[in-house]
Amino acid sequence: MEESPRHVTHLLHPDHPLVYQYHEASFVCSVCRITGDGLRYRCDRCNFELHEHCARCPSTISFHMHPQHLLTLHARPGTARLCRVCRVHVGGMVYQCRTCGFDLHPLCSLVRPQPAGERRANRGGGWSGFLRSVALMLFMHDVFD
Ligand SMILES: [Zn+2]
Ligand SMILES: [Zn+2]
Ligand SMILES: [Zn+2]
Ligand SMILES: [Zn+2]
Repeated sequence: MEESPRHVTHLLHPDHPLVYQYHEASFVCSVCRITGDGLRYRCDRCNFELHEHCARCPSTISFHMHPQHLLTLHARPGTARLCRVCRVHVGGMVYQCRTCGFDLHPLCSLVRPQPAGERRANRGGGWSGFLRSVALMLFMHDVFD
């Protein structure tokens, strides 16, 4: 994985550069509305904070659960929708196939296909602790919501 640049500009926050930094306190990502903690990109002036992935995710992706079309990054979902991966409401930036009404959180685009039986295996590398905690958080949200 390439190294994170210290500053990025984001299409939803074009006026100020966002600075890569670490805080222990959790935050709500200004882009996808999912909570995170630890490393983040942040604009101190505006309290605009977002996940590293949300700062740097590409504007189009192909996704294994919807291989027939590319998904395009949109600033906001057109209407209230559910993410096809975690089944949680998408309140912010979203990957969409508007032809099919397929919606996906940027973070959930990191979910890889997992063959049954490999879920508990520690494969070493691949998923970082951060992504594991996101996956766990989304899973718990799913269960208790
Ligand atoms: Zn985010
Ligand atoms: Zn700002
Ligand atoms: Zn999701
Ligand atoms: Zn489609």
